[in-house]
Amino acid sequence: MKLLVAHGSDSNLLTLVEKVKKLNIKAGPFSHILLLGDFEEETVNNLKKLEDLPTVYTFGSSGENNTDIIRFNGFGVYECQDKLTIGYSTQTTKELHESRKTLTNQFRKLEKPIDIFISREWSSDIASLNDTFSGTNLLNNVVKMAQPKYHIAYGDNNHYFESKPFMFEESLQVSRFINIADFDSSNKWAYAFNLDPSVTEEVDESKKKDMIENPYERKQKKRQLPEDTENSGLKPEDQLKLKKARKVLPNTCHFCFTNSSLQDHMIISIGNLSYMTIAKGPLTVPKGDMKFSGHCLLIPIEHIAKYNIGQENFSESELVQEMTAYEKSIVKMNYRKFDMSTIVFEINSERSIHFHKQLLPIPKYLIMKFQAALDRQLHYNNEKFYNNAKLNFEKYSPDDVEYLKIRNDPKSNYLQFTVYETSEVVPQIYIAMFQQDMRIDLQFGRRVVAFMLKLPKRIKWDSPACLQTKEQETKETENLQKPYKEFDIASQD
Ligand SMILES: [Zn+2]
Repeated sequence: MKLLVAHGSDSNLLTLVEKVKKLNIKAGPFSHILLLGDFEEETVNNLKKLEDLPTVYTFGSSGENNTDIIRFNGFGVYECQDKLTIGYSTQTTKELHESRKTLTNQFRKLEKPIDIFISREWSSDIASLNDTFSGTNLLNNVVKMAQPKYHIAYGDNNHYFESKPFMFEESLQVSRFINIADFDSSNKWAYAFNLDPSVTEEVDESKKKDMIENPYERKQKKRQLPEDTENSGLKPEDQLKLKKARKVLPNTCHFCFTNSSLQDHMIISIGNLSYMTIAKGPLTVPKGDMKFSGHCLLIPIEHIAKYNIGQENFSESELVQEMTAYEKSIVKMNYRKFDMSTIVFEINSERSIHFHKQLLPIPKYLIMKFQAALDRQLHYNNEKFYNNAKLNFEKYSPDDVEYLKIRNDPKSNYLQFTVYETSEVVPQIYIAMFQQDMRIDLQFGRRVVAFMLKLPKRIKWDSPACLQTKEQETKETENLQKPYKEFDIASQD
């Protein structure tokens, strides 16, 4: 099918439509016509004699639809009768901010890439291809989830810009970005193209030569981890297990943001590279003024087994900056609103499926019992469970050179507790390293905290004591979001 996209404004819409009619005769006929720009409802209502044209879609105008005109405003995904799928966000950066969570959730639910994505703003990843704009990072994840064949923006009125094609690795979808200038500018104000909704573009060698690196995947490009499974001294059956474990794909992974079974009602906040949810089967229980369990998970959006997969300058990377800011925002809420301390637990292992941090509020009078609880569980782990890796925790502060050396080495495997007595003092870090072929008690973190809090029945998340209904989970999320709002890093900046 042949499509035409044109960009105008309220003052030039009538002239623009006359031009489009001529184009439709000269270069068409088009099967769909998409008009981008801030048109008043009245002006669109006044468009007459559209019968020469196919269905016209306007982006950025509200009002009622009729057989000739379908209007899109805000954000959403629309499937035309002929199966063409159009996603859109006519929002300004401010509006994108305000609707961040619902916007992301809408696009997260897509089962397959869409054909066209129309947006007012540029994503910041695309803007990095061009010097004129900085774009907004709020659209990066949306485009990554939509993986459109054509992403067409109209935020820059004065320039026409067309990127070279690039490919999304996961879907093999070839994508292009185009910004169309306004009709009143002296630059290209319309773009016509052919598209077949049911066909994925074939890429041969000559096409490949013309493609650029995907700007959405460039940032997270990492050094390949050494494939040392073969020489690790593991038994063949363990090698196989390890390989299998690595094969868990994003669409079956419970922590993967793109997994459509991920439960919206548990999401607390969504950042650029990470997001936060309440925990399923929380360990902690409401205490004092805190009327919710407060057990949270902090998860990178990307499907990575370890925190450090060899990113350049790991400590300064955007992922570490953002996740640290998230962690501290919860610590702050726990302390300032509820006079609670916080313990963060994480496992860094090549054998993990998807890295995450567990954040747990602890009544302040109990936090000094951490060391004793840790020692006791270590004793059990090291003496009674012969099969488990013997753990030996070292204590550090967050900027200790020794600690950073461990964390900055992508080959390190370790368990870590971060103990925040309050949000105003430097936390203490307890870290125990292990070899990747050693057996680790995955419940170790929960075991230590359950012992501290005297909650032995809550060690396992799926035990009857911890089970919550969907209604309870929804309530937990809402109750946490209320006091968290003023600390949430995603609702600031
Ligand atoms: Zn995952």
